[in-house]
Amino acid sequence: MSFGSDLKEYALSVGYDRVGFTTADRFDLYREELLKRVDMYGWATGRDWGLITGADPHNILPEGRSVVVTVFDYFRHSYPREMVGKVGRAYQSLGGIPPIPLHRARFRLLKEFLEKQGCKLGKPVFDLPARMAAARAGVADYGKNTFAFAGGSGSFIVIGTIVIDRELEYDQPTLEVNCPDKCSVCIDACPTGALYEPLKMDPRLCIAYNSYNAPGSWFGGKQTVLPLSIRDHMGTWIYGCDICQQVCPRNQPRLKAKLPPNAYLEHLAADFQLEKLVNLSDEHFSRLSVLLNYVDNKRYLQRNAAVALGNEGNPEAVPALAEALQSPDEPLRGHAAWALGRIGGAGARSVLESHLARETSEYVRGEVTTALGK
Ligand code: SF4
Ligand code: SF4
Repeated sequence: MSFGSDLKEYALSVGYDRVGFTTADRFDLYREELLKRVDMYGWATGRDWGLITGADPHNILPEGRSVVVTVFDYFRHSYPREMVGKVGRAYQSLGGIPPIPLHRARFRLLKEFLEKQGCKLGKPVFDLPARMAAARAGVADYGKNTFAFAGGSGSFIVIGTIVIDRELEYDQPTLEVNCPDKCSVCIDACPTGALYEPLKMDPRLCIAYNSYNAPGSWFGGKQTVLPLSIRDHMGTWIYGCDICQQVCPRNQPRLKAKLPPNAYLEHLAADFQLEKLVNLSDEHFSRLSVLLNYVDNKRYLQRNAAVALGNEGNPEAVPALAEALQSPDEPLRGHAAWALGRIGGAGARSVLESHLARETSEYVRGEVTTALGK
């Protein structure tokens, strides 16, 4: 057997679902697209986030010859009812984003295998275009919703890439869009218009991006106050958004499959009640952060939970939002006020009016006043 076949066999044996190889050639198409859309992706092409740098694998490993691409199908179990529609399945996936111990261990095994074979490896980075690498390595193709799809797994996959200094036998690329010609279900379903044409998404409008584009996040955002134009489209999503994957006909077989529950997620599910999340304790956050580590501060989850409660519009959430109005965190108070305004009714109004008399922050006063319709 060749080194490439041994490598594939080993990767499959440690739990990856697909493995493919592509050259370390620059991802020119991706680079050109980023350069055309600096207004949308400027945040990701600077010093902290080097998407343009990552488009050339030689920036990751100067002597790089190949990119090893792994695909992990994360939709192996059903998701707890309390978490569906709130937390994107990828983050509940225990499959790699954020790095769950088991996934890290799988990756470490593959890395050790390559090193034992004398390969030099580039540092694992987030900046290499994983979806395009997967399509170039023949292990995924594209959907118009910009996701990579891998056969029966649909788009519920985590892609990993490792640049190595060894030449391999490369797989036949599958750089193609395998959607029915007339289908535009994902574009039509995107509530914010983030998905604005086939294969084009503006992250600034995306619910997922807005849910974790925060200081301290991997995304290095500056956002503490969610744009009004996004809030009411967020529904109950507090971390991620699966809408353009959920509606996709290519994902229906997996979404409709009868899968066993995941005991760990079932154990965490009770903690995902919005009323609890809006007034989250540090201890509670540290338990959940294993799934939510794109943000390093509970305040963003609390803020998003406040918006979700407002969108649910259930008057029973008024006491929890009234408690959030007492928080020292201004954005949380502001979003709690917005949510109370959405819920409306005498109870919410009375909380807002009595709060306005005490509120000292200009920003929060503005939110309260708007919520009261003054
Ligand atoms: S994740 Fe949600 S908001 Fe983002 S593009 Fe898809 S449907 Fe639109
Ligand atoms: S919803 Fe339709 S167009 Fe969008 S990714 Fe799925 S199959 Fe393609």
